[in-house]
Amino acid sequence: MKALDSKVLIIGAGLAGTDAAWFLANHGIKVVLAEVKKTKLGPAQKMDTYAELVCTNSLKSLNPDSGHGLLKYEMKGLGSLILEMGHKHAVPAGDALAVDREEFSKDITNTLKNHENIELMDLEVSDPILLAKELEADFTIVASGPLTTEPLSDWIMKNISGDDFYFYDAIAPVVDADSLDFSKMYFKDRHKPYSDDPNSENAEADYLNIPLEKPAYLKFMNDLIEAEKVPAQNFEQEKFFEACLPIDLMAERGEETPRFGPMKPIGLEKEDGSIPYACIQLRKENLLGSAYNLVGFQTRLKYPEQVRVFKTLPGFEEASFIHLGSVHRNSFLNARKLLNWDLSSKEFPNLYFAGQMTGVEGYTESATMGLYVAMQILRKINGKELLKFPFETGIGALVNYIMTVKKPTPSNINFGLLPSVELTKEERRNRKERKKIKKAKAAARARDAFDSLKGEFA
Ligand SMILES: Cc1cc2nc3c(=O)[nH]c(=O)nc-3n(C[C@H](O)[C@H](O)[C@H](O)COP(=O)(O)OP(=O)(O)OC[C@H]3O[C@@H](n4cnc5c(N)ncnc54)[C@H](O)[C@@H]3O)c2cc1C
Repeated sequence: MKALDSKVLIIGAGLAGTDAAWFLANHGIKVVLAEVKKTKLGPAQKMDTYAELVCTNSLKSLNPDSGHGLLKYEMKGLGSLILEMGHKHAVPAGDALAVDREEFSKDITNTLKNHENIELMDLEVSDPILLAKELEADFTIVASGPLTTEPLSDWIMKNISGDDFYFYDAIAPVVDADSLDFSKMYFKDRHKPYSDDPNSENAEADYLNIPLEKPAYLKFMNDLIEAEKVPAQNFEQEKFFEACLPIDLMAERGEETPRFGPMKPIGLEKEDGSIPYACIQLRKENLLGSAYNLVGFQTRLKYPEQVRVFKTLPGFEEASFIHLGSVHRNSFLNARKLLNWDLSSKEFPNLYFAGQMTGVEGYTESATMGLYVAMQILRKINGKELLKFPFETGIGALVNYIMTVKKPTPSNINFGLLPSVELTKEERRNRKERKKIKKAKAAARARDAFDSLKGEFA
């Protein structure tokens, strides 16, 4: 098959679908990108443009010795549009890559729209095989994400996965900055020195903190526990990501749990040096700082209950919410059972899955799975075998995880998925730095392993 004669249908212009489309189109493959948003928005979506970040606006750490830093290195190596646009539309967020979500999404949409090899289709796909036939597409990538619409999820369940296909996740509220009483809060990034000198680089912290002393904290926990929640849908079982638990569920697990999670005060001392009992962190949603996200405050509380409970927080008395938290379905497959190592379906070899659906979790992880699948399809078109990534790389570790884990639970990238690294005797003795050294070594090894694959991506 020649690249110039090949056509790939991609269903879903989210994080995975847009990066897959970009990769293939840049390698001369004709792409049809079908997206439902213009005809109807999903429960967590606010915009009709592509690659929408539905919850936090963060693409996570930029530290090269972190799991997400490592993944970014590999995304860059594969020419990721998501990463490029993330940098272009970055807003301040300490060591993390946070973005202005509207500009980010708009720019990605226009960039794809203007690509000569990409045709956009506003359509809710219900049968990928039938559509591929109609369009005469050689391959199809289903990248419809955790909120895949019902007709398509029904098709997948009927033809591929059976019932084992869904669970729930939660999103955090965003508040209008103008409605907050800043005098009751303070700016400070965790572990960075406090400064009220406007010329200091620490004066412009990215995080706004609401300090709570013990009685206020305990009352807030009690309010969260007693507030009315949105019930899980009839027979459906709630299964949350441990890394994205609703704050009210954390409070139910134990009154101290949030204080050791998103409300931990460590590294957030106030101007006078005192450390509050607990802290709620707000992070800028955009460069203007006109909206703030309540970090880690995904919640199952009913909307009026969220407004009632959050308005009891210091500085929130007059708070106006841009959007509230909510719970949503989150769909993914049992990749080990249903997919091959290139993430094609065992049932339909020309049908591939990418993104969160494959059992990874997170924006960058999903985009990476889009790039991975696109690259495997390109190799197939060029008559080449599957390119198996070493497990030492971020991509290899993620693919290995989803293809081998017995009880599928979507996972972020983390060093626990990579083979362990050996430390020298001297390094082992260095208790304080041991963890850091381990991560740095694993990241360096991963970069070397990834670099050794360059030249194989087409
Ligand atoms: C509520 C919620 C909050 C999340 N919060 C975070 C977070 O804060 N940070 C993080 O890193 N990850 C988060 N995730 C996890 C996940 O990484 C993101 O959802 C990510 O966007 C997944 O990327 P994706 O490309 O797989 O799917 P998506 O980005 O969701 O893209 C899928 C696209 O397919 C379209 N689509 C769906 N069905 C059809 C159809 N039938 N036909 C055509 N198009 C269709 C959708 O409209 C969408 O545009 C969250 C997930 C959920 C559900």
